[in-house]
Amino acid sequence: MASPDTLQRRGLMFILSSPSGAGKTTIARKLLAHDAEIRMSVSVTTRPPRPGEVDGQDYIFASQAEFDRMVEDGQFLEWATVFGNSYGTPKAQVKAGIREGQDFLFDIDWQGTQQLYQKMETDVVRVFLLPPSIDELRRRLTGRGTDPAEVIQSRMDRARAEISHWDGYDYVIVNDDIEACFAKVCEILAAERMKRARQTGLIGFVRGLMTD
Ligand code: 5GP
Repeated sequence: MASPDTLQRRGLMFILSSPSGAGKTTIARKLLAHDAEIRMSVSVTTRPPRPGEVDGQDYIFASQAEFDRMVEDGQFLEWATVFGNSYGTPKAQVKAGIREGQDFLFDIDWQGTQQLYQKMETDVVRVFLLPPSIDELRRRLTGRGTDPAEVIQSRMDRARAEISHWDGYDYVIVNDDIEACFAKVCEILAAERMKRARQTGLIGFVRGLMTD
């Protein structure tokens, strides 16, 4: 009889959201490096690439016309306008992957999170990271200290706007220590993987346990 650990399960959609400055990118990188079962969902965006960003890896970079065509063709699982640019999650690879037991990590905002939850509630796990304090957030958003005060103020305003959506998430972690925060994220993921509804392969296993 197969061991329960090797049985088929349905993949999950692990959403990590936070205001910028709360450590989301670091946690996402660590998770992808440490956990072979989860893969990043690569979004399409109309925002121009930043230095070092690789097309097809960090984002799929598209023109507004290309993006609009994808919206019309129904190619997105969700899409939203964030700070003046369009962002969307391509449907095809995620839907097929989930069925085959692949987990996906999403770095998307609260609007995309709401849409995914409405469409695929039972597959979605929503995690929100908070900074430890307003002073620490300001320190992290101040960067090298060369940005004008109004740029820093606008970053702070954006961060506060994002934090206001924290109540749309299943789990909330205050990130005051990156290693401790990462450990908590891993615990959530491990527990969610064990949810009965996801362990589709267990049905036959349990039947086997109940018969001689
Ligand atoms: P950035 O341009 O800094 O990479 O991302 C800006 C914001 O867009 C972040 O809050 C990020 O989570 C969000 N974002 C990135 N990809 C997607 C997506 O596919 N859908 C939605 N709704 N938001 C996204």
